[in-house]
Amino acid sequence: MIQRPRGTRDILPPESRLWAAVEATARDVFHAFGAEEIRTPVFEATELFVRSVGEATDIVHKEMYTFPDRKGRSLTLRPENTASVARAWIENGLSERSHPLRLYYIGPMFRYERMQRGRYRQFAQIGLEILGAASSLADVEILLVLHELFTRLGFDDLVIHLNNLGDPEDRPRYVAVVRERLEPHRAELCGDCQRRLDENPLRILDCKVPRCQELAAAVPGIDEVAGEPSRTHVAAVERQLEALGIAYRRNPRLVRGLDYYLRTVFEVVSPQLGTGTVLCGGGRYDRLISDLGGPAIPGTGFAIGEDRLIDVLPDRFRHDVLATPRLILVPLGETAEERAMVLARDWVRAGVPVEVEVSGRSLKAALKRADRERASAVAILGDDELAAGNVAVRDLTAGTQEHVAIGAVPEWWRRRG
Ligand code: AMP
Repeated sequence: MIQRPRGTRDILPPESRLWAAVEATARDVFHAFGAEEIRTPVFEATELFVRSVGEATDIVHKEMYTFPDRKGRSLTLRPENTASVARAWIENGLSERSHPLRLYYIGPMFRYERMQRGRYRQFAQIGLEILGAASSLADVEILLVLHELFTRLGFDDLVIHLNNLGDPEDRPRYVAVVRERLEPHRAELCGDCQRRLDENPLRILDCKVPRCQELAAAVPGIDEVAGEPSRTHVAAVERQLEALGIAYRRNPRLVRGLDYYLRTVFEVVSPQLGTGTVLCGGGRYDRLISDLGGPAIPGTGFAIGEDRLIDVLPDRFRHDVLATPRLILVPLGETAEERAMVLARDWVRAGVPVEVEVSGRSLKAALKRADRERASAVAILGDDELAAGNVAVRDLTAGTQEHVAIGAVPEWWRRRG
């Protein structure tokens, strides 16, 4: 038996309905705030991620699906989408368009992760980017859209963790502070963090190893070392979040796993997932496009992990989606079968979701199956009904049965709610 690759999943019905509903909700919210969809390739030149996400990050260092194509070019399955959006912006001359540009994406990403709950090798992200606005207002909008989406999905227990990563000019000063504090404890750090101390000391701050966390807790927050412009910027974001009533928590250890962030960075955590399993991450990346060879165009955005989001989806939303009403049409006999698809077409056109029993089951077996499938109602079309021009409709929720004229079924369906 051939099995799916480790770390990948088959999303089966009815769970796939949740995915579709979450994505439809996200699209609605994004469109309402003026965003449009961008679709970029799932593989890109490896160089793109090395230069944007950063050589010394875990993603580039050990998690990329990189392969040579038949001509020997190095390609990589995208581990995230912001770098591709930036590349597409440069390549397609989007600078010509009016800014800011609000672009969203929904699709699969790939990282060679060690297996654990909520961590997959192919996973999906739902993301939004605002390009061409340097203001704190754009960061607030990103967080507002995120908050609206989560609210629409029924969440009320999510926490936004926020930090100021400073400007790139502040970084060497901060890196020096981290090294100075942690170098004396080098031997106590985990193997990864010993390497990070040389290559990318900021990442030590969000290491999950308890001893590393203890040591990191003694390092001052980046905000304390950052320059005035970034502090003013993030303070303005916080003020506006307060005005909107969006709860957040300042987390001075929050650094994120990608090199391109500066100033505002944030993560959304769910109490259900436990620490270390983040639902959504994002922040500002004003140098990304220029680092990739484009002009100095600022950007800000977020990416939600869709797999994890579905895992912790509030019961209410889950129930509403899974309880989607359906009518099963059971034709009995050859003549009825010949009419069934005509009725299905007409009812579907009139807004009734219809599923025709096409397997030739007996009425008894069909009713049993409808029950098991949790259908809302069954419409039975036998010889008597054909002669009378009606169907026997059985409401499986109410347990009632009545005859309804064929043309009146859509009306009956709407009335039953
Ligand atoms: P990042 O691009 O690392 O900022 O990740 C953004 C979000 O994508 C995270 O908060 C997770 O929810 C999700 N995510 C990242 N990696 C994985 C993975 N391997 N499996 C499932 N979700 C992931």
